[in-house]
Amino acid sequence: MTNKEERDNHRPSINPVLAHLEAIATGIKWLTRKPMTLMYPDMEEKKPEYFRGFIIFNYNKCIGCSLCAQICPPRAIHMYRVPGDKRIRPGYDAGRCIHCGLCTDICPTDALDVSPVHDEVFEQIGSMDFDPVEWHIISKKLVEEHAKRKRKLVITRVDEEVGLRYEPVE
Ligand code: SF4
Ligand code: SF4
Repeated sequence: MTNKEERDNHRPSINPVLAHLEAIATGIKWLTRKPMTLMYPDMEEKKPEYFRGFIIFNYNKCIGCSLCAQICPPRAIHMYRVPGDKRIRPGYDAGRCIHCGLCTDICPTDALDVSPVHDEVFEQIGSMDFDPVEWHIISKKLVEEHAKRKRKLVITRVDEEVGLRYEPVE
């Protein structure tokens, strides 16, 4: 007997009519229940205090020590020469970043920080790679836009009956 024949022998027989009726009954049952999905983007899960989203950079605080680039595990930070600036400054490839936060910990001047921004969309991989000036500008823009967003903040609870339940944050 082949493996396939053996599998077929052990497969439970299914009555197609009953299976369809069960599927319809399940659909009707769930019509009256609240959806389990998070209604993104109108709802957003409240992030913990030190949530590590997009890493933000303040050019004006940077002293060009390059510690951030040296410690970054996936080499998401590279040092650049910027025209008109005597010091080297870091640029950031958000596509490589694993959000470990090491760069923010080691930066001696707090020029780097974590942000709650986690859902920025980029059209191409290359557009996630920022030189120091671009990184400074996009950091400011993303944080400002994120603060302006009107979203209902929720926390997630595990519900034995429906799976997940979202409760509004008071
Ligand atoms: S958070 Fe980690 S991976 Fe991302 S840039 Fe900083 S050190 Fe690199
Ligand atoms: S660790 Fe801080 S001060 Fe040093 S280069 Fe990086 S961002 Fe600039």
